[in-house]
Amino acid sequence: MLHLKDLLLSWRNQVMESPTFVRFTKRMIAVSSPLIEGKQTDSGYITSPIYRALHPGASGNKINGLGEDKKRRPFRILWTADDETPFGKLQRLFLITSGMKGTVKFTDHLHTHGLAQREKKQYTQPPLSPPKMLTKTELSSAVKKVAKEAGGDIVGITEMKEDWIFDNTELPSWAYDTKGNLDARLIVIGVEMDYEHFGVAPELPAATEAMKQYNRGTESALSAGDFLLQNGYHGWGHAGPRAGRFLLIPAAAQAGLGNLGKHGSLISKEYGSSLRLGAVLTNADLVLDGKIDFGSEDFCVNCQICVRECPVDALSSEKQMVRGVEKYYVNFDKCLPYFLDNNGCGICASKCPYSRPEVRPKLLNKHEKKLNKLQNKNAKAAQPIKLD
Ligand code: SF4
Ligand code: SF4
Repeated sequence: MLHLKDLLLSWRNQVMESPTFVRFTKRMIAVSSPLIEGKQTDSGYITSPIYRALHPGASGNKINGLGEDKKRRPFRILWTADDETPFGKLQRLFLITSGMKGTVKFTDHLHTHGLAQREKKQYTQPPLSPPKMLTKTELSSAVKKVAKEAGGDIVGITEMKEDWIFDNTELPSWAYDTKGNLDARLIVIGVEMDYEHFGVAPELPAATEAMKQYNRGTESALSAGDFLLQNGYHGWGHAGPRAGRFLLIPAAAQAGLGNLGKHGSLISKEYGSSLRLGAVLTNADLVLDGKIDFGSEDFCVNCQICVRECPVDALSSEKQMVRGVEKYYVNFDKCLPYFLDNNGCGICASKCPYSRPEVRPKLLNKHEKKLNKLQNKNAKAAQPIKLD
């Protein structure tokens, strides 16, 4: 049944996709560009006047825990309710200008809205039957199959960890055992972005592609969630761009989807960083996948491409201490102005050689040869020495 809200949204979409409205918004963008566009100068990037006016004066690096050596939960810093982050006004500005630029087609926007409603419903939905008699292995393969059939490209499973849950956020009670210990699994889903579009970041088609693929990730996660509910377990699917209740990148790495790159994004063997993530939280006991090493971690140590390509020097060659973990970190305060002024940027991830379809196979081939050589050497070293 169509609700009044959906009808109004649909009407709004028709208006906003009409040629007259598109012409009008293009004109508005052109007129307001001195206000909303930053400038690259010889002495660095100068942020847009409106960015400077709305900046809260807070440091995102401090909120993220840069330099902190104790483990703690992360804060939701973007893609959350405007009043939950000091950067709420900037976030709102980004969404308004993205809307004016037409980053997301309004039919896709309506789709996103529908998915968000389904996500909310699934969060509180109890299982629809007692657990069926599937073995752990059968259930794990079946849920992965459902996620893939519903649009997911790569899928892995991991144990949910406290460190990934955002501060001031709770998971549903079914994610804990009777003693209050976290006892839940995450099915992490990766969806490929078409590099033809993503490769032009920070131009608009890259941002449009990201939004489109987030919807595919959500579809896949919700279908896997529905499958678990039908099989007698809790299941809650979620995908970006909204921050949700937990971090997705470390979970994806733990689930064997790839490794964290110097650019702060996941590098997968299959698509490099040209992908988006989603996940399903469940209380079902599933077969866990392990971390993988396909050579990107070693390669990152000497590669400097993303560090050089970032227009605002937000990336560092060295790992840094963040909330008690040493890892590659994107300097939030340097990245944010460029990111917001430039369609969500993405230069670093799009220029990563693993993201480029014509380069990735050559790199993987090289890594495989190196690994084989090392294994042969180790095998020879392990052979007993013949004493004549
Ligand atoms: S998104 Fe853009 S500004 Fe941010 S770190 Fe990557 S290249 Fe730099
Ligand atoms: S561009 Fe190079 S250094 Fe940066 S993440 Fe990709 S492989 Fe690593």
